[in-house]
Amino acid sequence: MKPAASILLAVLALATAGAARAEDPANWSKPIRPYRVVGNIYYVGSEGLSAWLISSSEGHVLLDSGPSPAGAKLIEANIQALGFKLPDVKVLINSHAHFDHAGGLAQLKADTGARVWASRPDEPALKKGQHFGDNDNGLTSFAPVKVDKTFGDGQKLKLGEATLVAHLTPGHTIGCTTWTTQVVDRGRPLNVTFPCSTSVAGNVLVGNKTYRTIVADYRASFATLKALPTDVMLPAHEEQGHLLDKRKKMLAGDVNAFIDPGELARFVTASEAAFDKELARQQSARKP
Ligand SMILES: [Zn+2]
Repeated sequence: MKPAASILLAVLALATAGAARAEDPANWSKPIRPYRVVGNIYYVGSEGLSAWLISSSEGHVLLDSGPSPAGAKLIEANIQALGFKLPDVKVLINSHAHFDHAGGLAQLKADTGARVWASRPDEPALKKGQHFGDNDNGLTSFAPVKVDKTFGDGQKLKLGEATLVAHLTPGHTIGCTTWTTQVVDRGRPLNVTFPCSTSVAGNVLVGNKTYRTIVADYRASFATLKALPTDVMLPAHEEQGHLLDKRKKMLAGDVNAFIDPGELARFVTASEAAFDKELARQQSARKP
């Protein structure tokens, strides 16, 4: 590549890592009022992209970061609007190393001083600031972030009275992490699951040279997710869990708006059907 071309590409990469992309859905950067969901869990994301604060008396855990430094600032404003202090955010975790959930991590780390935890397989993508594995959507670069602690399947994160458990559910990314926790809400114990994304999202399923186990990983993750006892499913994207509808019901007085013990199974079944369809499409496209 000619130097001029490589400089241009570097400038473009920096620009896309720092700013919202024109093609991103508008609701990813649209602010909404943050709110308590159940127990010690708060919604602090934008209208379309989730970010979850899990609070404790010894500080807070923040799951996901929005797509960019501006997305991080939106989350920070939401955390403060709820009355929490940014330096009390102690740990940043990430559902998966895609720009729309990881692009604000570096900004959040700088502004809160929190430690970044990442699954071992997703760490290289976070450090590099780009998607890992062959993907028809390209590398989707984002601001890289230094990871302070890596972990594997079953890792517990304890902070004060809050305990989260990491379940590796790879496929969508190679280190996709589903977090679970238990809360008490109105005297009821509830199992809460934050499922990692399960869509194909441009992933090459047939002949993926840099992620050879991708199909088997998706299959194993569907099985893992189906087995997680879940009363409340809190996903990474609004539309995956109809979060706006639930919030409206909550505002109308429904204290059980976010409780649906069958939702995760339905979500996984639908994801599996879409996966099978896309796998068949890619298989037939590859035939000579
Ligand atoms: Zn993703």
